[in-house]
Amino acid sequence: MRFSDIKGHARELALLKRAASSGRLAHAYLFAGQRGVGKVSTALAFAAALNCEKNLGASEELTPETAEERGTSCGTCKTCVSITARTHPNLILLEPDEKGSLKIDRVRDLQKSLNFRVEKGTRVAVIDSAEAMVRNASSVLLKTLEEPPAGSILILTTAKPNELLRTILSRCQRLNFRPLSQILVKTLINESHGSSFNETEAEIAARLSFGSIGSALNILDFGLIEKSREFLKAINAISAGNPEGLFKVVSAFAKDEDLPELLGYLQVSLRDMALRLEGAKELTVTEPGEGLVLKKGARGGIKEVLGLYAVVEEVRKSIASPSNGNKVLALESLFFSIKMGTRPSNLNAFI
Ligand SMILES: [Zn+2]
Repeated sequence: MRFSDIKGHARELALLKRAASSGRLAHAYLFAGQRGVGKVSTALAFAAALNCEKNLGASEELTPETAEERGTSCGTCKTCVSITARTHPNLILLEPDEKGSLKIDRVRDLQKSLNFRVEKGTRVAVIDSAEAMVRNASSVLLKTLEEPPAGSILILTTAKPNELLRTILSRCQRLNFRPLSQILVKTLINESHGSSFNETEAEIAARLSFGSIGSALNILDFGLIEKSREFLKAINAISAGNPEGLFKVVSAFAKDEDLPELLGYLQVSLRDMALRLEGAKELTVTEPGEGLVLKKGARGGIKEVLGLYAVVEEVRKSIASPSNGNKVLALESLFFSIKMGTRPSNLNAFI
């Protein structure tokens, strides 16, 4: 893994390259940003730059040219290859278990490994999804963050920095990994999957991903676009039928782990509806027939469509929050709004 393999994040990469070439390293870094934007890949590229045989064998002389060179890794030496394979002894990667948590024993094991002397280069310990650390695990890590054993640094990655202890945040140099642009996500989809997906699917996945290439590929690989279309059909059926069916459908979708993507697709559909109403159908990505059906007449105007878009956004954010809102109530409220074609005045009571 090399810095040149990472897409986007130019400012963050430049900072890490400077740190790698100068050797002025923070004890601990926090890479914050949503899933699938390249945080762990960047950590691996940084570890490679700090341990690449080309850099370790270089003379001490540091000029602007050699600094640029020394801030990156070659990608081909034995060390670079084994860091990419995640097998190099100077790389420790800690990830949450199947239940999604990082328990204290594993943090203690990490600390023990850090106490072994570093033969050469810099040992990099990466704690992926650091918010998964249970509270006592976070507490035992504090001292290590403040003063890691000689020759070692820590990198914590997280999509939820707000869930980390303040004392952890204050001990790390924070780098924010912003969402990638939709154009970049689409380009990356084409690069990684060639022509196996058509333009429309790539475009929709890029929009649904909210700037995460990992999420975009997930959407395509797991057929979430098709599933989203089914979601819209279910909503349309509810809108056209009696309200009893609503509760059954809502409780099924409330349990669905792909709900954020399904809601994202609903937003894409509403956005396209607004564009069609405004006469800009060339900017749409979905076919008119596969979208949401709003009632004609006073309802379904641009104001209502934008109002519903805002409602979906609120629901999407509320289900992503740590407190997790009440998914069933939020969805019921949303489906009722669609059925009525208006924004309910009391939505905030639900989420
Ligand atoms: Zn190398």
